[in-house]
Amino acid sequence: MELSWSAALSAEEGRELAAQLFEETFGYQPQDVWSAPGRVNVIGEHVDYNGGPCLPIALPHRAFIAYAPREDRLLRLVSPQTREAVDELDLDRIAPRGCEGEVSGWAAYLSGVAWALEKSGYGPLHGFDAALYSCVPRGGGLSSSAALECAMAVAIDEAEGLGLAGSVSEPNDAGRTILVECARMAENQIAGANTGGLDQTASLRCLSGHALALDCRDMSVEHIPFDLESQGLALLVIDTRAAHSLADGQYGQRRADCEEAARQLGVEQLVDVEDLEAATQALSEERLIKRMRHVVSEIARTRALIELLKEGPLEGDRLKVVGALMNDSHDSLRDDYEVSCLELDVAVEAARAAGAYGARMTGGGFGGSAIALVDRERLEETAQAVAQAYSERGLDAPAFIVAVPSAPAGKL
Ligand code: ADP
Ligand code: MG
Repeated sequence: MELSWSAALSAEEGRELAAQLFEETFGYQPQDVWSAPGRVNVIGEHVDYNGGPCLPIALPHRAFIAYAPREDRLLRLVSPQTREAVDELDLDRIAPRGCEGEVSGWAAYLSGVAWALEKSGYGPLHGFDAALYSCVPRGGGLSSSAALECAMAVAIDEAEGLGLAGSVSEPNDAGRTILVECARMAENQIAGANTGGLDQTASLRCLSGHALALDCRDMSVEHIPFDLESQGLALLVIDTRAAHSLADGQYGQRRADCEEAARQLGVEQLVDVEDLEAATQALSEERLIKRMRHVVSEIARTRALIELLKEGPLEGDRLKVVGALMNDSHDSLRDDYEVSCLELDVAVEAARAAGAYGARMTGGGFGGSAIALVDRERLEETAQAVAQAYSERGLDAPAFIVAVPSAPAGKL
């Protein structure tokens, strides 16, 4: 069966394509091209807003932005999807969702970053022309939106001399934490998506060859070596290409359930629950028990997996336990948190049956992507098995990605 692999653009290709689109559209050359990666979360799902840890890696798939500042306050934005109609915005008129001047569509993610930087005291900025070329699959739970914001953030940072980002090889982590907040403000207030800072943190603060252990209580990070390739392993991402309208509102409901469980347990956030047994006894509503049980057990699994990675190479029993933790994570998201769907379950089951060490849904759920930890030489076979299972169930063919922990936002 013919498989659909979503390959990443090389740094050269991405730079070239973005710069070419810029020149064709605006008739002059950009100052430079900046880029930022999408991300995939290895474990720690739906725990960020409960103050727990998660473990994202930056994907090799990036959004490239060719950029040049202007003398006025105009923003002109173009992407291959929108090339007939260049988006034009006035930096003085951009306003949050629901207000006069709200920005719709993809332009919100880019213009929102300039708006947020100014709101945070890093203005006044120049207007700019920008051309976007991204190979991060859109809406696949791989954070194409954060890739846009973070590429914009590092472009403005360097062109305006803000000095917050540092370089890819010598990142300024404190400065990047400020850029994370601005990118998140753009997503929350201008694009109107109520998400935490996980995606932007991953895109700005990950390191190549490492997973990022992120403590969502205080956004502190630790870089954990995660060089699967040298250990004969690979992380296969299965983009289900499924989006369920059911997802609308479900995210908010899960957050509300967690807040209610925390309130009834008398803790600030569910990360503060120390005794799962006692907490289970203390709650009376079955739904809240299940939500709490997912969060508390997922936090424990994430901490355990991080410790195993720190211990040494992924082989033997250590590899088996890491796989089992990933499997348990999926089962908990499916049964207790109830955010999986048929496409995700079929992908996970097929990957496991094909010999994956562990497989789980990743991201918010109800579509998006699943991941499988496999022997490198079994990548193709595992993908074949998943595609076969989709075909047998009458599901649309999924797309595949190989997730190699890659460089953070910056100029490659
Ligand atoms: P995810 O971040 O999981 O991919 P989101 O719904 O958060 O999904 O973000 C997807 C949105 O980001 C798209 O609807 C679009 O507005 C914007 N976007 C992402 N990539 C591009 C692109 N290449 N060109 C234009 N807009 C894009
Ligand atoms: Mg997103």
